[in-house]
Amino acid sequence: MRPTGRLHLGHLHGALRNWVRLQDEADRCFFFVADWHVLTTKPEATESIEQNTVEMVTDWLAVGLDPDKVVIFRQSAVKQHAELHLLLSMVTPTPWLIRNPTVKEQARDLGLIRGESEQEVLTLSYGLLGYPVLQSADVLIYRATAVPVGEDQAPHIELTREIARRFNHLYGPVFPEPQTLVTEAPRVPGLDGRKMSKSFHNAVWLRDPPEEVDRKLSRMMTDPRRVRRSDPGEPEDCPAFRLHRIYCTAEEIDFVTRGCRSASIGCLECKKIMIRHVIEDLSPMAARRQPLEAEPARVHETLREGQERAQAVAEATMKDVRQAVGLPA
Ligand code: AMP
Repeated sequence: MRPTGRLHLGHLHGALRNWVRLQDEADRCFFFVADWHVLTTKPEATESIEQNTVEMVTDWLAVGLDPDKVVIFRQSAVKQHAELHLLLSMVTPTPWLIRNPTVKEQARDLGLIRGESEQEVLTLSYGLLGYPVLQSADVLIYRATAVPVGEDQAPHIELTREIARRFNHLYGPVFPEPQTLVTEAPRVPGLDGRKMSKSFHNAVWLRDPPEEVDRKLSRMMTDPRRVRRSDPGEPEDCPAFRLHRIYCTAEEIDFVTRGCRSASIGCLECKKIMIRHVIEDLSPMAARRQPLEAEPARVHETLREGQERAQAVAEATMKDVRQAVGLPA
């Protein structure tokens, strides 16, 4: 995950809950702060990286990632990622990068390009166009067998497999081909109904206190048909209802669905049912976050320990890689 700072409900349901589940199910998990990746789209954003890293890792730990079970580290602290990236770039044909749909979409969203012609894509920086190769190195260096990602990242794992296959074909079997663990993650709506995102200023932060969660969600957009309390609405057209789907029991969903369609409950009453669950869900995180914020050295210590464990695995892989490629190990 790129260090964009504090995390919100979208990160929680789109990624973190799944990570916490995996830490108990998988043999070994590596979760890292993708700080080099920030520079692929924001090469000037250097001032915020450090603080954002600490805030993000604090949230990871608050959500329940356990450094005794998983390896948590900063990408830039394990230089072997960069070395592998360099070697993988030698075996990656440029057309594989130019046709990548996710890179194009991201570049369009950022306003870096308007269309998707090859000519336009070739105006992007070398680092941005090639970030899926860096991502492949991030995965392959741990000889990962599976990578948990959202749907939009699936083309990158496919590329990782293609690169691994090509490398193994040229130099001998060094890497397993990682599987994509696509998780059914809800797209969490923000307060204005668009996707919850830091840049849209529509987020409920994991560190918002209960009063703030209540204040924000009480004002969350609902079905625009319900102008007056007596106007019936349609839950399927209501952004807030998408949060009910995540948080509420089947009985509560049934109750608010009928209440909305018959106008027997108002939007605020309806949202309060969901808000209670959100606050309950966030409260253990606040308790875990408190000691971490009082003593930020614990986060740095987690990152330092993780770095050592990650480096040991990464260096072992690189020894095999260098040997396979014919370089001094
Ligand atoms: P980002 O910080 O936007 O790069 O997102 C990091 C991770 O959180 C990715 O796996 C996203 O898919 C997930 N994520 C971010 N925002 C949302 C959202 N509103 N709904 C669901 N997942 C999200």
